[in-house]
Amino acid sequence: MNLVLMGLPGAGKGTQAERIVEDYGIPHISTGDMFRAAMKEETALGLKAKSFIDKGELVPDEVTIGIVEERLGKNDCSNGFLLDGFPRTVAQAGALEDILAKQDKSIDYVININVDKDILMERLTGRRICKNCGATYHLVFNPPSKEGVCDKCGGELYQREDDNEKTVSNRLEVNVKQTKPLLEFYSDKGYLVDIDGQKNINEVYGDIKDLLGSLNK
Ligand code: ADP
Ligand code: ADP
Ligand code: ZN
Repeated sequence: MNLVLMGLPGAGKGTQAERIVEDYGIPHISTGDMFRAAMKEETALGLKAKSFIDKGELVPDEVTIGIVEERLGKNDCSNGFLLDGFPRTVAQAGALEDILAKQDKSIDYVININVDKDILMERLTGRRICKNCGATYHLVFNPPSKEGVCDKCGGELYQREDDNEKTVSNRLEVNVKQTKPLLEFYSDKGYLVDIDGQKNINEVYGDIKDLLGSLNK
């Protein structure tokens, strides 16, 4: 199954992606995670991305499209993939259509996780992530059993540098603007499915599973 997850920062894409990839055995392709890994390793890509990410801006399309095309060409994507955080612009969506067409593939669903903007600040500033395995927690909504420690692997939890109030408000603004034409693009193609992201984490996942159950691949 070829899936795209959409939703504003904090909507729950990463949280739901963790569950989907575990149950369906497809790779989780998150451009944000790829940029963070590159920044950590201080590669050329990482240094370039950092100058945009620190301001809450989008990394330029040509850079982002290039890394996704390379990733989708890997063998583990042959039975499907879950894109998270890509595409973010109509140009990226168009490029994705071309990349998939070249591989005789197409998108099954674009799952749009809907959450009101005013609750996202609280979700993002309370978010904590495992340094070791990338699992996502929340101080209030999804706390680990032991403070600061990952339930899955025992790794240390950290807060993303861009999850501060100032960067979050800019990220939300940038995203709201970019998202509207993208949703129209996918709605016109008939791929778009809306999911209510304001329910609790398990309920949201239940709704996604109901949707994916209708796909037999
Ligand atoms: P995204 O990948 O869309 O930016 P995340 O999955 O990282 O979002 O979720 C943002 C924060 O909100 C995390 O701290 C996560 O634990 C929490 N969260 C995710 N889904 C829900 C939900 N349905 N209800 C409450 N909190 C949630
Ligand atoms: P969020 O959605 O919570 O802002 P992500 O982890 O998806 O966080 O992305 C972090 C940052 O990486 C974004 O703020 C943006 O600067 C950059 N980024 C990620 N995906 C893309 C993309 N598809 N196009 C451009 N920039 C991106
Ligand atoms: Zn962990």
